[in-house]
Formats: sequence, C-alpha cells, structure tokens
Amino acid sequence: MLIVKKFGGTSVADKERIMNVAKRCIRDYQEGNDVVVVLSAMGKQTDVLIDMAKDINPTPSKRELDMLLSTGEQTSVALMAMAMATFKIPAISLNAFQVAMHTTSAYGSARLKRIDTERIRHELDQRKIVIITGFQGVNKYDDVTTLGRGGSDTTAVALAAALHADTCEIFTDVDGVYTADPRIVKKARKLKEITYDEMLDLATLGAGVLHNRSVEMAKKYGVQLVVRSSLNEEEGTVVKEDVRVERMLVSGVAADRNVTRISLVGLKDVPGIAFKVFDVLGKANVNVDMILQSIGRHGTKDITFTVPGDASDDALGALEKNKDVLGYEELSINREVAKVSIVGAGMMSNPGVAAKMFEALYNSRININMISTSEIRVTVLIDVKEVDKAVNAIHDMFELED
Ligand code: ADP
Ligand code: ASP
Ligand code: MG
Repeated sequence: MLIVKKFGGTSVADKERIMNVAKRCIRDYQEGNDVVVVLSAMGKQTDVLIDMAKDINPTPSKRELDMLLSTGEQTSVALMAMAMATFKIPAISLNAFQVAMHTTSAYGSARLKRIDTERIRHELDQRKIVIITGFQGVNKYDDVTTLGRGGSDTTAVALAAALHADTCEIFTDVDGVYTADPRIVKKARKLKEITYDEMLDLATLGAGVLHNRSVEMAKKYGVQLVVRSSLNEEEGTVVKEDVRVERMLVSGVAADRNVTRISLVGLKDVPGIAFKVFDVLGKANVNVDMILQSIGRHGTKDITFTVPGDASDDALGALEKNKDVLGYEELSINREVAKVSIVGAGMMSNPGVAAKMFEALYNSRININMISTSEIRVTVLIDVKEVDKAVNAIHDMFELED
C-alpha cells in the first residue's frame, strides 16, 4: 500500500511529539508499505514567523513573506528525517522545490497546479520514507509560494491524488471531525463519516480542522480522507462521497471570525452599479461572500457585503481608490463580526431548519446582521463577541450532542 500521512503543527510541536510521529510512520513502513509524510511547521511557528516579519515591516511583500513562512515546514521535515534516522530507518526530506510542486504565482494563496512524482517515486523505490513540506509550492518564476493558512492538508491530498495513494490520513490534535469545534462546544459529537460536500461547506465556513481546498481536491480526485488524532489510536472520521448512516438534518455548526462587513451607502439606483463594485473587488483579488442590497429609495441604494478579515485592507484600498467611479456617499466598515453557519444535506428536504436556527439565536437574544442560505447551509452574520454563545445555542437546539 502507498500511504500519505499528514501531521499538523501541534503533532510535531516538540521533540517528544516528533519522535511519536516518527514511530507511527515507521510502524506502517515496517509493515511493508510505501510511506509519504507531509508536515506542517512546528507548533505555532508560522504565527511566530508572521510576527517577526511584521515587527520588521508592517506591510511585508507577499513574496518575501512566503520565502520566510516556508522555512517553518522545512524545519519540521529535516528534523523528522533526523528523528527517523535514530531508529535506523532510511528517510529523506524534500521541500516543494525539490519535489517540484508547481503552483500559480499568487503569493500567500497559491493553488497547486501540478506535482512531479518522479523524485518521490525514486526515493520510495529505494525503500525510503519520504517526508515532504506541506503548505508550500513553487511558481513559474521559481519563487516559493504558500497555499494559505492551513494549506498543508491540501498538499497531502494533492500528493495522495498524484501518487494514487491507497489512503490519506490527516492527523491533528482532535479525534476527528465533530458536530462543532470541540474547543467551543463541550457537548460536540465526533462524526464517524461525513460527505465531501458537507465537509467542504463546514471547512469553507470556518471549521478549521481541514483546509477547504483539500476537501475540494479530495472530492475531485476521489481521495478518501481520514481525519484522526496523532495523540491516540481512535478511529477518526472518514470523509467520502456517500455516507451510509442516516442523514442528519444538520451535521455541523461552524464559526468564522475572519470576517469584515463593508457597506457602501448612497449608491446610485441605476443598472451596472453592483457590477462595478464587485468588479473593482474582483480585480483587487478580494473574495466577496454575503451580499445584501437595499431597496432603492429616492434614487439611491446601499450595498452591504462581507469579505475575509485579512482581505479587508485590500478591499478598502480598492474601494477608496475607485470612489469617484462607484459614486457612493459613505463607506462604513465593521471588523467585529463573525459568521455562524449550519450545514447538513438533510436540510434540502426539510423546511423550517432556518427558522429553528433563528429561534435558537432569538432565545439567546443574539441579533442577526445578515443572512445567506444555500441548499445545504444557512449562514448568519453576528457580533463576534456572541459567537461562542451562538454556536452552543444552535448546537443545543438541533440536539447534536453526544
Ligand atoms: P493542524 O495543525 O493539525 O492542522 P488545526 O488547528 O488546523 O490543526 O485544526 C484542528 C483544530 O480545528 C482543532 O483543534 C479544533 O479546535 C478545530 N475545529 C474547528 N471546527 C472543528 C470541527 N468541526 N471538528 C473538529 N475540529 C474542529
Ligand atoms: N503552517 C501553516 C499554517 O500554520 C500550514 C498548515 O499548518 O497547514 O497555516
Ligand atoms: Mg490545519
């Protein structure tokens, strides 16, 4: 079997944990499997590096930031190879350049385009454990890129797809995917299985346990994922196309604090305004999420929307630069908001699910700013200070507990 095993930051945070991971990988290797290991930076190292950068320069160039951040993963893989060597196991570490993992050129949010597998195959054929840096890639200028926070999951899934791996295991600091973040909701329940579609929505809506692109890619290439703990032997959660268990109405609640709300007040109520606003944002590479347009009155209207919190400065810059073209009277911004969402394939055929979520919020006296829905999810925008209370209230309302 060819096994891809990915370990997140907490799983390799110190010497003891690194040794623990080494042993786990060696076990599979000694059973005769080919083992490819993908690692994140140790502990909170990526945050430490970002702080170091911002201390020197509050607005570092994205290229140089990627150059810096990629060192975190490089540290982990080299130490892991050294750890395995202490057990007399042949192992080799490779960074994205050495593999070659080709990405688009967007620093900080690059997308994987193609992975060369020749070098990896060659090392596996020599019966080595191959340890690869997560999160990073190389663009057409031969510069280092990164895939966005949490991107090591995506590296692992992409490798599993490219190598036609038999399994792809994502090891983290919780036992699997839960009905809500177990750190916020004490009663959260571990899911045995979850579909790609539900997991993709949960991940996109803030359930940081998996990088959303990793789920997108797993679905596209049919890579079955197992999310489990590196600290124990619990079974974990399987992410796949179809699940056998009866569909729950709601399979999970997610929260995303990385949100900013922007309102453009006093726009002209004529055709083409929404196009202009979102075209400006699109060209500035800003993803817009929830959108609300008021009814036109006295020839003017307002448009309110949300953008990722870390893109809010880019959004502001673009909107202010184009103030004359867009013709708004006032721009207001609120960074103290968060999205809370419920996701479930069972929702499709059950009206009243949204009402039940709103009732839970009303019972907790939480005000809703904006609402958006799709077939399998409902999202509300609320005050960031109320997130924990909201998630728990909604979780209770749908009786998702253990
Ligand atoms: P890693 O460094 O291993 O990639 P992450 O911190 O990226 O770990 O992801 C694991 C964390 O995701 C957990 O510690 C947990 O707090 C959080 N999380 C958020 N939502 C969920 C969920 N629905 N199920 C499990 N964990 C979740
Ligand atoms: N080290 C990177 C981060 O902290 C990538 C990852 O952990 O997946 O975001
Ligand atoms: Mg992660």
